[in-house]
Amino acid sequence: MSDHADPFEWSGGHPALDFVNTLDERPFDPPIENLATYRDLVRFAELAKLIEPSVAAPLRKLSDPACSRVAKRARKLREHLHDVLAAAHAGQPLPQTDLNAIGAAIQVAHAARALVVSHSPGLAGHSWSRPVAPDTPLHACALSIEHLLVAVERKRIRKCWASDCDVYYVDTSKGQHRQWCSMKACGNREKQRRWRAGSQ
Ligand SMILES: [Zn+2]
Repeated sequence: MSDHADPFEWSGGHPALDFVNTLDERPFDPPIENLATYRDLVRFAELAKLIEPSVAAPLRKLSDPACSRVAKRARKLREHLHDVLAAAHAGQPLPQTDLNAIGAAIQVAHAARALVVSHSPGLAGHSWSRPVAPDTPLHACALSIEHLLVAVERKRIRKCWASDCDVYYVDTSKGQHRQWCSMKACGNREKQRRWRAGSQ
């Protein structure tokens, strides 16, 4: 993938859901892996505004052997979140093993930050202790997942209604009637499918 390509699905409405949606076309075998490399992970974190471009640029140049391990851990973390979301969507109890794994990643992410002087609005803010450490984009994703799980209303976290689409999104519409990851992709396709089924 080139640095300028953007293969990611951005209809999640929350960076943690966009993160889950980086495994595209989930119902199909094989799905499309958009976090195949460390550079993909850095690119995602930058485009999702989870890390600053000034941090992403030096991270992209890293050739540390740890990088591919970080990408692997990020993909694992993503699947733990996916399992939690899938359980919630199915009305099943949330799997504690997945929550434990996510919780551990969040703890490590918190430990990677330091409190520094802030110019606005508070006296201090969080900053990465070592921004160019290979695991910074992974930590940024973990903190975003923490926000999704703790601060977003559960009933607003939805999965696309299209039978062949596993994209998750936050429904921010007033009446909470959003059915599709996007009208352009699944909405129109499903409407056509239903119309065809009805006219037979
Ligand atoms: Zn969809």
